[in-house]
Amino acid sequence: MTLRGKTAVITGSNSGIGLGIAQEMAKAGANVVLNSFTDRDDDHAIAVEIAKTHGVEARYIQADMSKGDQCRALIEKAGVCDILINNAGIQHVAPIDDFPVEKWDAIIAINMSSAFHTTAAALPLMRKAGWGRVINIASAHGLTASPFKSAYIAAKHGVVGMTKSVALETAQEPITANAICPGYVLTPLVEEQIPDTMREYDMSREDVIKNVMLKRQPSKEFATVEQMGGTAVFLASDAAAQITGTTISVDGGWTAL
Ligand code: NAD
Repeated sequence: MTLRGKTAVITGSNSGIGLGIAQEMAKAGANVVLNSFTDRDDDHAIAVEIAKTHGVEARYIQADMSKGDQCRALIEKAGVCDILINNAGIQHVAPIDDFPVEKWDAIIAINMSSAFHTTAAALPLMRKAGWGRVINIASAHGLTASPFKSAYIAAKHGVVGMTKSVALETAQEPITANAICPGYVLTPLVEEQIPDTMREYDMSREDVIKNVMLKRQPSKEFATVEQMGGTAVFLASDAAAQITGTTISVDGGWTAL
């Protein structure tokens, strides 16, 4: 599979799933544009390392995905966007009657509205290039729910819905729009929750992983960032040219329950 000559813009890609997708895209030959809201030497160093390892062009562009104008500016600065991967996301866990309004607004903005702004800015570039792929990183929580995650669930269901709408708007063009729905993936975000949960439940690391975190993931294994990247590369391939407006679950069977 080669994506040589294509450029992938991946939001929220200085860590976790976004970084894993950037690496798999670069491995498949695509040039990559990395992003987050920070502007540290380390962020730019990731791009340098990817370019060196895979022999592709790689750039890091700082932009805050909670701000619509910065989402659009990211695509403008990239200049070319054949593959758009909307991945930036945050989480907050609280009962709805206690859910901080600023957390609700931030989750809706970063996890959902950013994809509206980047897609609106990227589609004209895809049309100019005569080819395009929109790949939204939703979640098993885009298809099903859990308590105490109202903003996240609303945003991820929203992303799945918007994906279908974009697919219908581009159905007669060489552009597709799909969502990947990961189950639990062991990213830094998830890793950080393990020590607290061990203390909270007085459990070993293994028990926390198997019986708390992966309670709803029948495989009892985390999905990996490489698997998310591989799925994104597949969606960008010619084999997936007629796959549009749908979701691909990479969740160890979670949504089969
Ligand atoms: P992560 O915290 O490792 O990555 C999130 C990324 O988003 C980081 O690069 C972070 O810098 C970036 N980001 C956060 N706020 C931003 C902002 N305002 N502007 C730009 N970038 C911003 O977490 P992750 O687990 O890799 O999550 C990536 C995506 O995958 C998210 O959309 C998340 O909802 C989704 N997801 C994760 C899991 C999981 O188990 N890890 C499961 C399902 C879905």
